[in-house]
Amino acid sequence: MTQAPVWDYSSAPESAKVEIRPRYGLFIDGRWMDGRAGKHFPSVDPTSEQQLCQVTEATGAEIDKAFEAARRALRRWSRTPGRERGKFLFRIARRIQERARELAVLESRDSGKPIRESRDFDIPQVAQHFFHHAGWCDKLRYALPGVSDPRPVGVCAQIIPWNFPLLMAAWKLAPALACGNTCVLKPAETTPLTALRLAEILDECELPRGVVNIVTGGPETGRAMVEHPGFDKIAFTGSTEVGKAILRACAERPVRLTMELGGKSPNIVFADAPIDQAIEGIVEGIWFNQGQVCCAGSRLLVEESVLGEVVAKVRLRMERLRVGDPLDKNTDVGPINSAVQRDRVKRYLRIGVDEGATLHECGTSALPDRGYFCRPAFFTEVQPSATIAREEIFGPVLAVMSFRTPDEALLRANNTPYGLSAGVWTNKGSKILEIARSLKAGVVWCNGFNLFDAASPFGGFKESGFGREGGRHGLREYLSH
Ligand code: NAD
Repeated sequence: MTQAPVWDYSSAPESAKVEIRPRYGLFIDGRWMDGRAGKHFPSVDPTSEQQLCQVTEATGAEIDKAFEAARRALRRWSRTPGRERGKFLFRIARRIQERARELAVLESRDSGKPIRESRDFDIPQVAQHFFHHAGWCDKLRYALPGVSDPRPVGVCAQIIPWNFPLLMAAWKLAPALACGNTCVLKPAETTPLTALRLAEILDECELPRGVVNIVTGGPETGRAMVEHPGFDKIAFTGSTEVGKAILRACAERPVRLTMELGGKSPNIVFADAPIDQAIEGIVEGIWFNQGQVCCAGSRLLVEESVLGEVVAKVRLRMERLRVGDPLDKNTDVGPINSAVQRDRVKRYLRIGVDEGATLHECGTSALPDRGYFCRPAFFTEVQPSATIAREEIFGPVLAVMSFRTPDEALLRANNTPYGLSAGVWTNKGSKILEIARSLKAGVVWCNGFNLFDAASPFGGFKESGFGREGGRHGLREYLSH
């Protein structure tokens, strides 16, 4: 008797070759400050657990220099005609496209995200944000209704997280520069490399000195930025906890703020939904980027009559998710970004089991013996009051719950301190509109999930923050009137 063939993929690794210097300094006033005398910290590859390079931890004196450079540059940059600023942004976008492979490999090595995602999502979106905002530079008079001559806000402090390192930098820098502001940007301590590579690109594009300054470091450096008197606006993306600390620190200062914080977003599946399409949306919603997505669809709410079918199909689909080397083009799920975050995810898995939910761990291959890997997982029999249903895990873990009526679905969906995004799956247009209107979420996707465009505003309500990034709404955050 012939044995059934075992169908598997051959690995298709992207070359890991990309230039990484042994040590990086800070990019201030258009120059690299070596920071040789200062403190350094390692940036670690989450797949191999090996150090990629050493990065400088910016001190108070260096933060001073960065804000002074941004203030000096503001005078000229804010008066540069929009059509000229647009040429710089356009050039940056083109250069990002030209160096896309290098940026994608660097991003995957530094953050652990699968190359399929960094190559096909992150980097194209980065270029799109610069292209989109290049187009706005000479049209700002149309950005704010009734304001014919909007002005830049001034010097912007920008602090970003590690889940979409270069994309978050683009979300911050592109609109700020388009509106004539200057910036001091700090990437997250575990993923500084693509922001530092972007500094090289800005230099290549001859962006005037001091318009963008990139400082690296951890929470201490972030705190020093927040306490610095040299900025007019702060734009923060990160955890709700740190966002609140920044709000407290800025409470008595006349600075503008944008806060893009955490989430616990619902993905709602009605019985009349195209179920197979919804399964893809569920997978995309929670296992994209190892679930380390602020707007991840981490709570799945399914109408009771199709719960069994949906759970069975999710399990079947999950069993085909390939966990492994992020540079392999077949990989769906790479390692978690850091050991700290991996341990946090594992802690939530234990809490879920202890509180009585049923854990299903999936993924095809055996986990590599090195790297901060964690299997994609989902929980069934989850009580709405359970910790895993309420708190942001920021990992590949889905909590599945059911509902009987649209009202109950809405009640459960809105029963969260967060309000970032939501997905609604049904084939009835009128139901989509009715539900979307009542959801307390900044973004609602209908029969889709995690769909992004530079022209479309993104942002949250409640503990997910305030302010919008992207589109015309995003420009408002960087203009005064
Ligand atoms: P984090 O808040 O720990 O860190 C974010 C950034 O803030 C990092 O650069 C960090 O160095 C810096 N930082 C830390 N403590 C600081 C302090 N006291 N003062 C100033 N800066 C400080 O968040 P994280 O763990 O890097 O990212 C995960 C969080 O980010 C999740 O909660 C996620 O939901 C959120 N996030 C939100 C969005 C959004 O658009 N809403 C997007 C991505 C991530």
